[in-house]
Amino acid sequence: MPQSTQRDNNNTKSVIIIGGGTSGLCAAYTLKKHGIRAILLEAGDRVGGRLGGDRVDGFLLDEGADFFTASHDVALRLCEELGLPLVRSMMKLGWYKSGRFFTTTPEQTLAGVISDLPALWNLGLISPRAIRASMKMSRTIKNRPEHLSFASNSMVAEIDEEESANDYMKRIGVPEDVRLALRGLLEMTMGELDEMSAAFALTFIAQIMMKTDELYVPEEGIGSLTHALADACGADIRVSSPVKRVVIQNGGRNVPPDTLEGAARLAAYHSGLRGENRARVMVAERRHVRKPARARPGQVTIRKGKARTVVVDAVEPNWQEAGGSGFSAPE
Ligand SMILES: Cc1cc2nc3c(=O)[nH]c(=O)nc-3n(C[C@H](O)[C@H](O)[C@H](O)COP(=O)(O)OP(=O)(O)OC[C@H]3O[C@@H](n4cnc5c(N)ncnc54)[C@H](O)[C@@H]3O)c2cc1C
Repeated sequence: MPQSTQRDNNNTKSVIIIGGGTSGLCAAYTLKKHGIRAILLEAGDRVGGRLGGDRVDGFLLDEGADFFTASHDVALRLCEELGLPLVRSMMKLGWYKSGRFFTTTPEQTLAGVISDLPALWNLGLISPRAIRASMKMSRTIKNRPEHLSFASNSMVAEIDEEESANDYMKRIGVPEDVRLALRGLLEMTMGELDEMSAAFALTFIAQIMMKTDELYVPEEGIGSLTHALADACGADIRVSSPVKRVVIQNGGRNVPPDTLEGAARLAAYHSGLRGENRARVMVAERRHVRKPARARPGQVTIRKGKARTVVVDAVEPNWQEAGGSGFSAPE
């Protein structure tokens, strides 16, 4: 970063960012603060990724993320910096059945809890086994308040013992139906339970379930953050521009296997191979690749014997792994 900052201050370089979700928009915004121009390539027809929303017929509709926890200092500071006032979230978790909405986040009063008992019972949350497991979980959460936060100085990594969230829940005896209910919530928002660390899942549970009165949202809805970031980042934003072919610039040095695999997954996901578990991707050094005159977009030839094949999973767009030393260009 320091080297490129020096060059970029002379406006000779710009940075290409793949993906216009919050991460991509924040990266562009940070680069702008350092005087570096960014070109942001987004596959979808709008930026924001899993975070969006708008005002429709006078109502604010959030898509995806809908609040920030009180410990999420970076997000809260960002909203303040962009002039977006924050209000307490009115979020209610629950489900809709036979024309009624059953909430599972009781009001913070005894009457509220009692009136929500049928919903909690139906979800299996107040069976003896579930109560025993939730007491174990609450004890862990109570003993670790300084670790279980999303703050930028959070010590959550210190208590990550490499146990997955799923294994942790099985170990403390969370009944299967409750795990199923939690799986829906956690996987929709945070990721796969088998891949997520127990420490991270505990942080999420501690922050959202135990502190329902400490959740914040921009007054104009979470989508207003996307709009404000897109306006403030000053990037050349190009939507409907999926990155399909990846050129890794590494100054002639060996390319780390993770970077190569990430780049291959990215290319495979944005090709006809999307959805395949074992997609075969051709990899060659740049000097052996030619683009014939009048070739169709993306069509190249590779010198005989100079290509090799990498087999990757093209189910998810795991493009983050291509980051760091990679440079990517759209078709
Ligand atoms: C229903 C739901 C509720 C959530 N609730 C909360 C919450 O309340 N609080 C909270 O903090 N978090 C919440 N989250 C998580 C939060 O939304 C995400 O962590 C965050 O939005 C991720 O941002 P991102 O930019 O990293 O990824 P994404 O938002 O996934 O953005 C990635 C972008 O990259 C684009 N892209 C991918 N591949 C390519 C390519 N090859 N070329 C070009 N573009 C590409 C995609 O189209 C996408 O726009 C929730 C998520 C969901 C789904």
